[in-house]
Amino acid sequence: MSKLFTAAVAVLPAAVFAGLYGDTPDATHAWAVHDYNRPKPAKVSVCPKTGIPSDAIVLFDGTKASFEKNWRDEKGNPSKWQFSDEGYFYTLPDWKNGGGIFTREEFGDCQLHIEYRHDPKQLFTNKGPQMRGNSGVFLMGPQYGYEVQVLESYYTSAEAAGTSEYVDNYADGQAGSVYAENPPLVNPANKPGEWQKYDIVFHQPIWKDGKMVHPGSVTVLFNGVLVQDHWEVEGETTHCKRRPCAEHPTKGPLHLQDHGCVVQFRNIWIRPLASRWDNLTHSNMSACPKKVMELRRETAAALYAKIADPKVATADNVKALAEVISYANEGVYAEAFKAALEAYKAKPGDANEVKSVNSALDVLIRNKVICESCRIR
Ligand code: MG
Repeated sequence: MSKLFTAAVAVLPAAVFAGLYGDTPDATHAWAVHDYNRPKPAKVSVCPKTGIPSDAIVLFDGTKASFEKNWRDEKGNPSKWQFSDEGYFYTLPDWKNGGGIFTREEFGDCQLHIEYRHDPKQLFTNKGPQMRGNSGVFLMGPQYGYEVQVLESYYTSAEAAGTSEYVDNYADGQAGSVYAENPPLVNPANKPGEWQKYDIVFHQPIWKDGKMVHPGSVTVLFNGVLVQDHWEVEGETTHCKRRPCAEHPTKGPLHLQDHGCVVQFRNIWIRPLASRWDNLTHSNMSACPKKVMELRRETAAALYAKIADPKVATADNVKALAEVISYANEGVYAEAFKAALEAYKAKPGDANEVKSVNSALDVLIRNKVICESCRIR
């Protein structure tokens, strides 16, 4: 908060800040700057014990009931992955668990928290660089998927690992990479045997009439450290090949990969996020202009309905109508504003009142909603 705003709050009544105030809505902004009509964000609390936000869907809370309720194999049957009474589930080596594990519920854009751990005794098998605790967090699986790689990546040399069975890896396949696309920015991996955390924010690409209008993105915090910074996904992540982005369903299950390696998982929760294309409360340059205008008209109608008699030429009515046309300067709103303003100009109030009306008009003039000649002289 600026010093200016803090000082203003201290000396001015709250009513001064209501109404027309900041720059008006435009083609990609459904709301004015500092708009009191803009919906307030929903309250969310974070459990001090678990760190889980109150609006999260818990996909695994360490209980067998949670494991069985939320997870399945690719065909919808109970997964062959194993549950441990110590509060995690895990794969077995050599593909003995029969494939990946999938959530029963499907998701699109999301914030995801997931923790994993490698068993130090089952890491160095001399089977190749991608067989050292390989799994993966696939967003939007299984037909289509964007993989955030899971792999033992603490050790970066045979000398450090203390074993000749260490095999070097490639950067776009280590932990925290968007597999085959982008290596992590840094490597904050913990030692094998310690739990690792991913916090992922995923936005899928947005398609309209067969064309991509906004690329998807993946942001990853690995053990609290930023390793993927709004990475724009290039396509389905696969071994060896680049695949161009292709339109796919807007929801899919969360998929954890079985790569024949032992990996343990715990504490998994997800928060579905609104598509940036549809989220006009938090609209920005990616907002759809048509939907923005629809919402502006809805707001104009709601504000207009609150005016008891728009034909009465009071200062309050002129200011209220000025606010209405800041959302939709058209039709009945434009006519009512024009009539009220002309009538008020013919019989204005005292200097302070006129000043307050002109303040509202100034915002519209500044934003070219109305012209300079509308100001009351
Ligand atoms: Mg993998």
